[in-house]
Amino acid sequence: MKKIKLIYNPYSGDKTFKFDLDIYVTNLQNAGYEVHMLRSTNHNDIEDNLKSIPKDFYDAFIVSGGDGSINIVVNCLMKYGLNHIPLAIIPSGTANDFATFLKLPKEPDDACKIIANNKTISVDVGLCNDKYFINVCAGGLFANVSEKIDKTFKEALGKFAYYIRALQEMHTYKPITLKITNSKETIEDKFDLFLVLNTSGTGSIKNLSPTASISDGVFDFVGFRNVGVANLPSFALKFLKGEYLEHDKILFFQDSQILIESVEEVYSDLDGEIGNKLPINIKNIPNAIKVFVE
Ligand SMILES: [Mg+2]
Repeated sequence: MKKIKLIYNPYSGDKTFKFDLDIYVTNLQNAGYEVHMLRSTNHNDIEDNLKSIPKDFYDAFIVSGGDGSINIVVNCLMKYGLNHIPLAIIPSGTANDFATFLKLPKEPDDACKIIANNKTISVDVGLCNDKYFINVCAGGLFANVSEKIDKTFKEALGKFAYYIRALQEMHTYKPITLKITNSKETIEDKFDLFLVLNTSGTGSIKNLSPTASISDGVFDFVGFRNVGVANLPSFALKFLKGEYLEHDKILFFQDSQILIESVEEVYSDLDGEIGNKLPINIKNIPNAIKVFVE
């Protein structure tokens, strides 16, 4: 029998995943998998467990959770040489940008069907100094929104908590001076926000970069040059049309290696979790992990 490890956080998102566990085990056993479970309530559980797994022991991993849980699992797969083992993702968190980008289903039967069908794709992973990310590395306005949200508040309000927090953030916010070096040039300017995108969206805002591909070996860099809060609504409209990348207040380029520096104290945000303090050296690792898809 093949072996699969199911990692889940019982407190993730609307906390309903745990009620479907028997459906998962039944379906996965029928698909020929022996199911090993890891109930995790904090990030250290996952790392402690995955770091001691022999490289050829499991045939697949499943993570049920949001972007934060996926980020932790991907970091472990990369760090401990387990990234050749395909990963199934069941979206059950507050923010599920990665799963949404890949159009992954939430229903147990549909999620198990994808695993049983055994179709996977290879996707790029970002390395920011010593930490990996799968969706986005960001900094500036909006960027550190998710981890500043009180946990109870986040659970109660779900996605709306992000928007409310972002609005609060606008009152206290000022632009940051960044020095950005890609493989062709160095750009120094004031920015409201920068995004290094692996997928095309973040913070439940889709199509930040409509052209973003998760398997092209490059990131889509989007920098908002000191636009001013007053202009953000008009930018929001242009997001929806996918036209804003041409705007002169936007710095857009694609590259596989990006260095971002600042004289100010700026922290990066990786997939909604707090990342490294600038300077950050970001590198695209092409086709780094395998993910089950429909
Ligand atoms: Mg890409």
